[in-house]
Amino acid sequence: SGRLEGKVALISGGASGLGEAQALLYAREGARVMIGDLQEVLGASVVARIRGEGGEAAFTRLDVTELASWQAAVALSVATYGKLTTLVNNAGIFHPGGIIDESPEGWAKMVAVNQTGVFYGMKAGAPELVKAGTGSAIVNISSLYGLIGSPGAISYHASKAAVRVMGKGAALEFVKQGVRVNTIFPGQIRTPILGDITPEQDAAIKASIPMGIVGDPMDVAHASLFLASDEARYITGAELWVDGGWYA
Ligand code: NAD
Repeated sequence: SGRLEGKVALISGGASGLGEAQALLYAREGARVMIGDLQEVLGASVVARIRGEGGEAAFTRLDVTELASWQAAVALSVATYGKLTTLVNNAGIFHPGGIIDESPEGWAKMVAVNQTGVFYGMKAGAPELVKAGTGSAIVNISSLYGLIGSPGAISYHASKAAVRVMGKGAALEFVKQGVRVNTIFPGQIRTPILGDITPEQDAAIKASIPMGIVGDPMDVAHASLFLASDEARYITGAELWVDGGWYA
C-alpha cells in the first residue's frame, strides 16, 4: 500500500509544474487529491491523468488570494473525501523587479498570491487538519530565494521569506494538535514559471548550480511526499532545500 494511504490532500497550484508533480505522486502513493488552481483546463487534464493511473482526484477552481475561495475548496475536499489531512501551499507567481523597478501594483500582486495566499490556505485548512488530528500535515513551498540574499526580484524574495517564517510559526501553533508544518525551498526546477529563457540564461543558471543541472518537478514532489507522509512524523518546522547543492 502507498505511503499516503488514507490521506486527503488539497494542493494549490496543482494544475502545473511542481503542483502537478506533487498531485501525481501523492495519488500514486494512495492519497485522494483535490487540485485547486485558476487553470481549469490544465487542472482537468491532471485529474484525467491521475484517474487513468487508477488514482482518485478532483479539481476545484481556487484563487488563493480569496479567503472565501479557500474555504470553498476546503469544504469541497471534506464533502468529496470525508476529511482533509494534508494541505500543500504550492501556488505561486514570479516576476522580476528590483527595488527601483518594482511597482507598488507588482508588489501587492506578489504578496497577495505568494504570501497572503499561504496565510489564507492555512487559515482555511487548519481547522479541518486539526479535526483529522495526528497524521495531518501542511507542506509549504517557499523558494531558495526566501533564504538567501539576491537582487532583482524584491517582491518575490520577500514573499517567499514570509512563507518560511509563517511555516515555522504554524508548526509551533499546531504542534500539540498533531498537525506538522514543514517548508520546501526549491532551487532551479524546470517548470513554466520562469517563462522563456535564452540558451545563455539557461547556461548561466546551470553554471550556478553545484550539480550542474536544473531539477525536475519530481525532485520536489519526492521531498513533499516524505514530509506529508507519516515517515516524517517527528519532523515539524523543518526546512528542506531541493537545489542541487546551491545552498550548501
Ligand atoms: P507554475 O507556474 O508551473 O505553477 C504555478 C501554479 O500556480 C499554476 O498552475 C498557476 O495557475 C497557479 N496559480 C497562480 N496564481 C494562483 C492563484 N491566485 N490561485 C490559485 N492558483 C494560482 O510554477 P511552479 O514552478 O510549479 O511553481 C510552484 C511553486 O514553486 C511556486 O510557489 C513557486 O514560487 C515555487 N518555486 C518554483 C521554483 C522553480 O524553479 N520552478 C523554484 C522555487 C520555488
